[in-house]
Amino acid sequence: MGLEPSAPAPIPFNKPFIAGKELYNISQAVLSGHLAGNGVFTKKCQAWLETQTGCAKALMTASCTGALEMAAILSGVGPGDEVIIPSFTFVSTANAFHLRGAKLVFADIAPDTLNIDPASVAERITPATKAVCVVHYAGVGCEMDEFTALCETGGKGARGRITLIEDAAHAICAYYNDKPLGSFGDLSAFSFHETKNFISGEGGALGINDPTLIERAEIIWEKGTNRSQFFRGLTDKYTWVDTGSSFLPSELITAFLYAQFEQAGEITRRRLAGWRYYQEGLRALEKAGDLRLPFIPAHSRHNGHMFYILLQDVSTRDALMEHLRQRNIMAVFHYVPLHTSPMGLSMGYREGMLPVTEDMSGRILRLPLFYDLSAEDQDRVIGAIRGFFAG
Ligand SMILES: *Cc1c(COP(=O)(O)O)cnc(C)c1O
Repeated sequence: MGLEPSAPAPIPFNKPFIAGKELYNISQAVLSGHLAGNGVFTKKCQAWLETQTGCAKALMTASCTGALEMAAILSGVGPGDEVIIPSFTFVSTANAFHLRGAKLVFADIAPDTLNIDPASVAERITPATKAVCVVHYAGVGCEMDEFTALCETGGKGARGRITLIEDAAHAICAYYNDKPLGSFGDLSAFSFHETKNFISGEGGALGINDPTLIERAEIIWEKGTNRSQFFRGLTDKYTWVDTGSSFLPSELITAFLYAQFEQAGEITRRRLAGWRYYQEGLRALEKAGDLRLPFIPAHSRHNGHMFYILLQDVSTRDALMEHLRQRNIMAVFHYVPLHTSPMGLSMGYREGMLPVTEDMSGRILRLPLFYDLSAEDQDRVIGAIRGFFAG
């Protein structure tokens, strides 16, 4: 109306979603007088996760990082053992095993899903391989039939059975051949960090599928004590019995998280709707060869955790990211491959060793995707990307 158009409102990369009952649940925890861990809300969250993921047992943790550290302790890896993980992942996947003194062996990813490639893992198995940790990138399941078979037999050159761990930080309420992710490995780790689908600020859970690990997991979780057994009346003394740490979250955290779990279906539906809206809006650019959209294999039912595009090369990616930033749209990339990070280099890894990881990490761009993202804002993102290629 004759006025200068103002700068468009910022579209953040992520915005934490509040389901509604979080503060009410926290007030219930406060009124109950039980604020430390392993109370009513911890048990409610664990029961929900066991039903949802099919894990034999779930233990809430303060983070997915903590759950991965518990998985590393439970897998029994130590100095002299090798653990195979993707290089294209968050640092916590690596740190958990590095903290135990195990040697990290980085495998490459498949160019279609960006998930750890079974063929690359098979090539890296040696008699020292004790564990494999897969990461279900963007909530799309890894090739679990292949990984399960590989770890069961130990693969070519292995000493015996290999512990299979799932970093399911992205993968809550996602499925491989209709079986929930997190239920395939001996152990799995979930994240409720504010950037994930269901959140409690910081938060996580360990899923245990090998029932022989449950008792030890509870001990490690409770600072190396038999506190859980003591409270169940299974032992007459509460004492130090094994390695452990303070892995369990406060009831204030699980009270918050349970409100999110109660809305899980709706949260997942909304994220999937946003994901599909981008897919529809950007399909023509993929047909024109300007970019590539995520590939979802037939076995996968994903959870709308992340929407990314792959550009031709790193300079196009960086130029598009800047183009969006100038229009107040926050798009980001990850991961700096772990094998070319300062830590990876100090372990003897070099650029060029994992070509697919290096290539994809330079070409990926993640678009804003969160519960409250409106169709109008998605239209702005899609329009800005189209404008970049038209201009
Ligand atoms: C977020 C994330 C983690 C760590 O989760 P926290 O809950 O923040 O500790 C681990 N692995 C992957 C793949 C992640 O995306």
